[in-house]
Amino acid sequence: MERWIFLLIVLCSSVRGWGQVIDLSVPGAIQIVKFIRAGVLIDGESNSPRRDQVITIRAGRVTEVFDAASARIPAGAEVIDLSQATVLPGLIDAHTHIFLQGEDPAEGGYDIQLLKYSLAFRAARATVSVRRALEQGFTTLRDMETEGAGYGDVGIKQAIEGGYIPGPRLFVSTRAISTTGGYPLEGYAPEIEVPKGVQIIDGPVEARKAAREQLDRGADWIKVYMTHRSWVSKSGGLESQPTLTVEELRAIVDETHGWGKKVACHAYSGEGLQRALDGGCDSIEHGLALTDAQIAQMIRQGTWLCATLSVYYGDWAPADTAAGQRDRKRASAHEESFRKAVKAGVKIAFGTDMGGIPWGEPIAQEFPRMVEFGMTPMQAIQSATSRAAELLEMKGKLGVIAPGAYADVVAVSGDPLANIKILENVGFVMKDGKVFKNEVALRGKLPF
Ligand SMILES: [Zn+2]
Repeated sequence: MERWIFLLIVLCSSVRGWGQVIDLSVPGAIQIVKFIRAGVLIDGESNSPRRDQVITIRAGRVTEVFDAASARIPAGAEVIDLSQATVLPGLIDAHTHIFLQGEDPAEGGYDIQLLKYSLAFRAARATVSVRRALEQGFTTLRDMETEGAGYGDVGIKQAIEGGYIPGPRLFVSTRAISTTGGYPLEGYAPEIEVPKGVQIIDGPVEARKAAREQLDRGADWIKVYMTHRSWVSKSGGLESQPTLTVEELRAIVDETHGWGKKVACHAYSGEGLQRALDGGCDSIEHGLALTDAQIAQMIRQGTWLCATLSVYYGDWAPADTAAGQRDRKRASAHEESFRKAVKAGVKIAFGTDMGGIPWGEPIAQEFPRMVEFGMTPMQAIQSATSRAAELLEMKGKLGVIAPGAYADVVAVSGDPLANIKILENVGFVMKDGKVFKNEVALRGKLPF
């Protein structure tokens, strides 16, 4: 008898919405659930968008996704009306530098960051960088090293996680690693000791030690520079200077994998790129001139490509200089390399090298380049959602709007599948179920 009374009480004190029972006997029960009405939902994983969906969010997670027709929203519940907008998962940029600011040569370029700016000043600017990313709908960044700012990224990440500053969730790589002669600052009198933008190692023992230090101090990823200088060869190809040996890289990869973490390798072309693949890198950053054999090796090994196309289109030196020819060759080789990789089915994650690009510019400028060079708009979106989440080993948790995922949600007016540039105007941003920005214009053409 008692069981029946209990059941009756539960039934009477609950409202059934979206197939889920909300216990109204708990004070504020309705308020802890948020409902988003989505005019069109691109969920990050499925290849077709869905019209008129309702997303329920509880405790920072997506709990249900329903057809609006089959759902009732309880009276008094918090409803976010995006019924005239296209809703997507929070976007992921898998290659940024929050501690760089575009390096305008007229303002002292790269060197001044390390020579004249205090860490506090650089951290203050990084605080702005992460805010810019979040405002543009990028709710997750894989930041690819601090460029001389040590472990500052770990601190910025702590401040975001602690709720002290707004920003995306960060996967950080701290100092990065290269060899003697493999990274700026360069060109100073040899008698003067200048700082380097990375941790310099020579030999497998130092390589492993550097990885251990960085992992111990909070690196989520290890970043390695496998090539450094680049130029156009006599035969007209893009050449680049290799840095670490395969043995040095293997020591880093072995150590890092032992910690359950992954290694990202900056690699442009040639021998250095080959060593990156032979040494077991998990992601190739840039990959400006991938050969067919290297593409086949990437597919065989499951290596990711994070191309960062747009950054190679800014600040070209004059065409009649060696640097100008190199700048143009980088862009043209990269286009060819990216087209081949897309066609062959290499795993591609969205990345921009923001920081190399000033943070005032749109991060989403990378999308139209990806589409221009062979991706469908949906593939480009997935590269910044579910595919990037896979790279980060966060499949199902990030880059998707489905039950169990973090409630990282963005929205745009109009149809990004018809015009990918629309992603430069994200009007609504939610991270962890909390609304950060809600300025979406409730008008615009929906995908269908
Ligand atoms: Zn970079």
